[in-house]
Amino acid sequence: MTIDDAPREALRGGPRELLRWVATGAAVSRADLSRLSGLSPSTVSQRVEALINQGLLEETGAGRSRGGRRPRQLAVPTGGAVVGAIDLGAHHARVGTLDLSGRVVQARTLPVRIEDGPEQVLGSLLAEVAALAATPGDPTSAGPVSSASTADGDPGALRGLGIGIPGPVQHATGRIVSPSRMPGWNGFDVAAFCAGRVDVPIIVDNDANLMALGAHRTAHSELDHAVYIKAGTGIGSGVISSGRLHRGAQGSAGDISHCRVVADPAPLCSCGNAGCLEAVASGAALVTALREQGVTVSDLTGVIRLIDDGDRHATALARQAGRAIGEILAVVVNFFNPQVVAIGGRLADCEPLLASMRATLYERCLPLATQTLLIERVATSQDVGITGAAHLVIDHVVAAN
Ligand SMILES: [Zn+2]
Repeated sequence: MTIDDAPREALRGGPRELLRWVATGAAVSRADLSRLSGLSPSTVSQRVEALINQGLLEETGAGRSRGGRRPRQLAVPTGGAVVGAIDLGAHHARVGTLDLSGRVVQARTLPVRIEDGPEQVLGSLLAEVAALAATPGDPTSAGPVSSASTADGDPGALRGLGIGIPGPVQHATGRIVSPSRMPGWNGFDVAAFCAGRVDVPIIVDNDANLMALGAHRTAHSELDHAVYIKAGTGIGSGVISSGRLHRGAQGSAGDISHCRVVADPAPLCSCGNAGCLEAVASGAALVTALREQGVTVSDLTGVIRLIDDGDRHATALARQAGRAIGEILAVVVNFFNPQVVAIGGRLADCEPLLASMRATLYERCLPLATQTLLIERVATSQDVGITGAAHLVIDHVVAAN
């Protein structure tokens, strides 16, 4: 075993992995778990009992017998326990409840005025989560996971809450630090505020990390090294290293928004520097640049519409944005050597941006780094952020036991 393999090996057969095997249908019995993990039946039994006692697994009756006593089948309970998730954006928030396998039970999108400040915005979103947790989900959406227990409007079914913030979050404290477009939120302790209102474990992270984790767990959990770019109103990235979200010392790993790119003239950034990626390639930057060219555009949706219509100003800006993202990404790829780079967020559907990002990446990267590199779009789903938030919480709840 090389040093590089160590973190992955340490996870093998841990409670989190046992739970995931059951959640994905890879295992339905203790025997399956023993075979997959290589652990002894008694060790598996101990861990399974602990997970059952925590309400994270349940037994759902007899499976198929291979002679002797018929084994009890294991399942992740879907009906009762749920995890709450909030993916806060500049203008909207996606709010949902997800079962303990990370599947969406209920979700809705709400308009948000970020400038109303954290108390008002988070207060109403928390009320929404509580309302969703108290409402039974659609039993037809339960999928292959057991729905033996029923949600009967019990708000106590909430097992944890994950929150994504469109700005830098100090991971250890859950505090927001110098966000660009969130007036009144700097230094706000999101975790403490929410803990005063809901009595469950709360995890706060930035939105790009949530997207990275959600996309990785749903599309590429077999790949150990991945970089996810979130390009919407702002721009950021989340890094998966050795199969885990890499946050760095404080939680700012992957924050590429203020990396400098070649741009002439270099537009001024909200951070006070000039030529930051965010000032050149984010959705907000495209809106500003178009307005400066005399084009009437109200928001990012308007910009995307112009690009889809082949407007030359908007298309040229999208290409420039793609090159800028590609430049920064090339440094990241050369340095980190991921297996996949995926772009998500609203600008990911913008073809001219994607094409120039891809071309710049190939031009600027070492051949060895791009030889087998997958360059993709994050599968478009408005639930990718809340899915990541739920997985953060599920991992935390499982790891804590
Ligand atoms: Zn900046």
